[in-house]
Amino acid sequence: MAVDPKVSVEGVGKSYETADGAVEALRDVSFDVASGEFVCVVGPSGSGKTTLFRLIGGLESPTTGSVRLDGDPVTAPSTDVGIVFQEYHLFPWRTVSGNVRFGLEQQDIDSEARERRTQELIDLVGLDGFEDAYPSRISGGMKQRVGIARALAVDPDLLLMDEPFGAVDARTRDMLHEEVLDIWRETGKTVLFVTHDVEEAVKLADRVVVLGTEPGTVREIVDVDLPRPRSVTDESFVAHKEEVRALIGD
Ligand code: ADP
Ligand code: MG
Repeated sequence: MAVDPKVSVEGVGKSYETADGAVEALRDVSFDVASGEFVCVVGPSGSGKTTLFRLIGGLESPTTGSVRLDGDPVTAPSTDVGIVFQEYHLFPWRTVSGNVRFGLEQQDIDSEARERRTQELIDLVGLDGFEDAYPSRISGGMKQRVGIARALAVDPDLLLMDEPFGAVDARTRDMLHEEVLDIWRETGKTVLFVTHDVEEAVKLADRVVVLGTEPGTVREIVDVDLPRPRSVTDESFVAHKEEVRALIGD
């Protein structure tokens, strides 16, 4: 018997009204994400990746079609989805633990449990020792670790990320990839990860949803049936990367 998908994107279109007329960001986009799956959405700049991220996160509504989470239409942000933004969006006036604690403050749990959970998350993303640091004093990679810990604080089923490592150096990015994969394995969460970086997508994903541009449409969905950890120099890795590159057409 087929299991219901965690995320279901069905015939989704999104147009923005602008002073120069309508901009069609997405047209007829459909795909499913199974529970526990790691799916990357890859496409060039302007292919509607951030738009899709915002629709799945409940930050905007589609013009046509529907987005469902566990079968229910997504109409607003929910604690079932942990969101990690491209530009961190940390609270500058809060420390590392203050940022991580934020999601927990909206929840009905006692302060002792809240502090325990905050420390667990800080340890999970490797930021122990930096609890009292402010965002302005830590690196981009550390900021994004805070973003991930904050997103995980409310224990969402789905972790939704928009080019989270676009601004960090290659070595840090490699480390963060391993950390995200570890968290995914340890928690069993569903991950939907948006990126323009084909190599990143093939390194991380069980399946890659390839978007084309003007308007954003699904070109193809590519299975990446390679064992982890994946080596980017491995022959079959390179073959998958070339396949996705060719689909994007750059
Ligand atoms: P990506 O994240 O893949 O670069 P976006 O989703 O940001 O793509 O944008 C897709 C298209 O939609 C682009 O043409 C962009 O200019 C347009 N767009 C995105 N957001 C808005 C908005 N709020 N108003 C008008 N146009 C927008
Ligand atoms: Mg974007």
